Amino acid sequence: MIAAAELKALDQLFSRQSTEEILAWAWDRFGTRASIGTSFQGAGLVMIHCARRQGLNFPVFTLDTGLLFPETLELKARLEAFFGIVIESLEPDLTVTEQADVHGPELWRRTPDLCCTVRKVLPLRDKLAEVDCWITGLRRDQSQTRANVGAIELYTFDEASGRDIVKLNPMAAWSREAIWDHIRRHEIPYNPLHDRGYRSIGCWPCTRQTANGEGERAGRWTGFAKVECGIHTFLPKKIDFQI
Ligand code: SF4
Repeated sequence: MIAAAELKALDQLFSRQSTEEILAWAWDRFGTRASIGTSFQGAGLVMIHCARRQGLNFPVFTLDTGLLFPETLELKARLEAFFGIVIESLEPDLTVTEQADVHGPELWRRTPDLCCTVRKVLPLRDKLAEVDCWITGLRRDQSQTRANVGAIELYTFDEASGRDIVKLNPMAAWSREAIWDHIRRHEIPYNPLHDRGYRSIGCWPCTRQTANGEGERAGRWTGFAKVECGIHTFLPKKIDFQI
């Protein structure tokens, strides 16, 4: 895969390169063994746009927890038409009803970490077994927990297998303002909930509108000391060079 010395050199190189250049490297290195994962936040939309207009046809997937807003599901269809792609939906082993049978109703109200593990982390882990490079839309200015995100990291997605994959974050340096300027300039479809005060959009039970002055992800898991679903923190990071 990638040795630590090369990873460090790439980290330094990517700190000087554009999103387009980083994506082009991923395409040359991995081709369709690199996949874009998106929950259709602004950064993911911009990233798919940057890839598509360079002719980089990365597969795209999303985590469909069965608890997404109708507006999010409609957006997925609009993006498929806009970009001319099919976006793979990763679904949990348990339906929402089956999860209630096994763990009790409305698990997200009692143990959201377990709910996120069942509905997001485990389906993602299965997907990552198929790829060599996971491309995300993480940005450093989203929250304190993401402030040190590097452009490239090595990830051990499954400790049992010990197989490393590359986690690429080509949007790490983008500001929220630059994201929305790009979306408007290129008329990229986006989630209409953003116009109704939702700044970070996940499952409907765990997402609320935010007021001015609140952090971008403050509307997620209100009432819990939880700020990440786990897909970026649950899986152990092996090497992480900060830019
Ligand atoms: S965001 Fe909420 S509803 Fe969605 S998987 Fe996590 S805890 Fe469950």
